[in-house]
Amino acid sequence: MIVNSTEILKKARKKGIAIPQFNINNLEWTKYILEECNKNNSPVILGITEKTVNYMGGYKVVSNLIKDLDSSLSIKIPIVIHLDHGSSFEACKEAIDNGFTSVMIDASRLSLEENIKLTKKVVEYAEKYTVTVEAELGSIGNNTKLYTNLEEAIEFTKKTKIDSLAPAIGTVHGIYQEQAKLDLNLCDQISKFTNIPLVLHGGSGLDEIIIKQAIKAGITKININTELQIAWSNALKKYLIENGRIYDPRKIISSGEKEIKRVIREKIDIMQSNK
Ligand SMILES: [Zn+2]
Repeated sequence: MIVNSTEILKKARKKGIAIPQFNINNLEWTKYILEECNKNNSPVILGITEKTVNYMGGYKVVSNLIKDLDSSLSIKIPIVIHLDHGSSFEACKEAIDNGFTSVMIDASRLSLEENIKLTKKVVEYAEKYTVTVEAELGSIGNNTKLYTNLEEAIEFTKKTKIDSLAPAIGTVHGIYQEQAKLDLNLCDQISKFTNIPLVLHGGSGLDEIIIKQAIKAGITKININTELQIAWSNALKKYLIENGRIYDPRKIISSGEKEIKRVIREKIDIMQSNK
């Protein structure tokens, strides 16, 4: 079932668990993620960046692919089609017009005032189509240390009426060069005062204990991208070394299937075991 993220995040927040966002890259990844989440009975948010949209052939291709897989694979879990790090109003609008059920507007590079203005514009458009909106405040860059300011987060949430917020609390995208230092106290405060689901970007490579602490501090959605990429590409490299004569692309691409599914299963276990 294709849904927006309202209900699943609300339920998860109440239960004290998190919903995973796994980023897709092609047909095979989408299929693997849907199959494994379905098997483990976890709702899933499929993250698609603008670059991936271009890579896969356009917004319509992506949303139709997901909708068709949902029905042809008889998937029983809720699925969210989500634009990850939308860079402009136009990108969010195109996603919404083409069947995405959730968008992230990332205007965190702008001043607070400009970020509010642009995010609000996206929320107002999305509302008409019951599409949910995630926004970012602070900077979750690469090794940046620009943490979100609590007062700004409260003002931002109130003025924009976003559905979920990605605060900068110390995580980074990609691979961690050193142990991540998360400000979970700040996260907890932002969660209490904004009272909306919080999103953790850069969820790859975080220790189980940190993920669980983050969920306790109000994180309801965790984005996993890099870790799936590494699992898949390592398995594929190994397969090619061991099977140098193989040229069937279906065998080559799907040689990473088991590993991707293993990581998905592990992440769902950590996010939803509630222990
Ligand atoms: Zn991100």
